[in-house]
This record gives sequence, structure tokens and C-alpha cells, in this order.
Amino acid sequence: MDAKHLGDDLTVVLHTEEELRARLAELAREIERDYSDEPPLLVGVLKGAVMVMADLARELNFHAQMDWMAVSSYGVGTKSSGVVKILKDLDADITGRDVLIVEDIIDSGLTLSWLKENLESRGAKSVRICTMLRKPEALKVEVDVAYVGFDIPVEFVVGYGLDYAEDYRNLRDVAILAPHVYSGE
Ligand code: 5GP
Ligand code: MG
Ligand code: MG
Repeated sequence: MDAKHLGDDLTVVLHTEEELRARLAELAREIERDYSDEPPLLVGVLKGAVMVMADLARELNFHAQMDWMAVSSYGVGTKSSGVVKILKDLDADITGRDVLIVEDIIDSGLTLSWLKENLESRGAKSVRICTMLRKPEALKVEVDVAYVGFDIPVEFVVGYGLDYAEDYRNLRDVAILAPHVYSGE
């Protein structure tokens, strides 16, 4: 779906599909270098990371095994609850494995810092994070992020996997959602 089909639901397109893909290609080269001994297990966080995972995994020039988790940290709205719950756990045993968490966005950082600790506590050899987007000014906790696509302003964005009430995930670009959509005006 293209941004132009959404009329006044969106204000600004922050990053186009082409920019996202080009940046992921750069990150893939870094990841290949950093994991030249052994490829990591890619752990995608459902549902938002589906697009990042699909594009990153195909960009990587090594065998990329994928696993998925679903956690809830946000309700249907636009505010972080800070409460993380596992809705779907990994299939793989990650004991002794290098794990690369693949995420769509880091906002407060609460979800990712919790998830990183959770995976480390299962005996992973290493746990690193790759995120397509990050809002540096919204961070509430320190999170060590190895690979960041783009830093963005503190706005609610949709597209490229990111939803508002499950809509807009299939938008190709990342765009700022117009406040009238979620304020109900
Ligand atoms: P955090 O715990 O870092 O505050 O939030 C992490 C999760 O909240 C993300 O994985 C994503 O699902 C959701 N989230 C945070 N900011 C945004 C945003 O701007 N747009 C959308 N659609 N989801 C967001
Ligand atoms: Mg996410
Ligand atoms: Mg969401």
C-alpha cells in the first residue's frame, strides 16, 4: 500500500521503502562482519518486525535461521504500558547461541531491555539488538542497541510493519500518523 492511498491519515513520510531497504543493506554488511564466525539466530518480535525481518534476512549473505516471539507492551492505543507479557515464546533452545533480536522500533526501550535480559537469562551466548527505528528522546531506560536503522523524532509512526489498532502495517513507507486518527476527531 502506498502513502497516497491513505489521504489525510498521514502527515509526513519519514522514510520511504527505498531508504529503508538501502539502510538495511548497510546494516547487513555490519552484521556479516560482526558474525563472521557463526551466523546468529534471528529473533523477530511479532508482529511489527515482520517486514524488517523479511528484508534483513534476505539481505544477509549467510544462513539466517529465524524464530519469533510475540510480546505485548502496548494496548491498542499509542502509549506504552511498561508491562511486558510473552504471548508467543521461541521454538528454539537458545542455550549457547548467538541471538540477534530484530525489532521494528524502540520507543521507551522498556520492551527491548526486558526482552534482552529475558533471552540472556536462558543462557544465550550473546544477545544483540537490531532495530529499524529508534526514538532517542523517548528512551526511559538504557538499552544497548548494536544496529539502528534510523533515529526518528518522538511521533507516532505507522507502516513497514508498524500498526495503529492493527491497521497500516502493510504501508510500504514509514509515516507519521495524523493525530486526528487516534484522537477520534
Ligand atoms: P517500547 O517498549 O520501546 O516503548 O515500545 C516498543 C513497542 O511499542 C514497539 O515494538 C512497537 O510495537 C510499539 N511502538 C512504539 N512506538 C511506536 C510508534 O511510533 N508507532 C507504532 N505503530 N508502534 C510503536
Ligand atoms: Mg515491535
Ligand atoms: Mg503495535
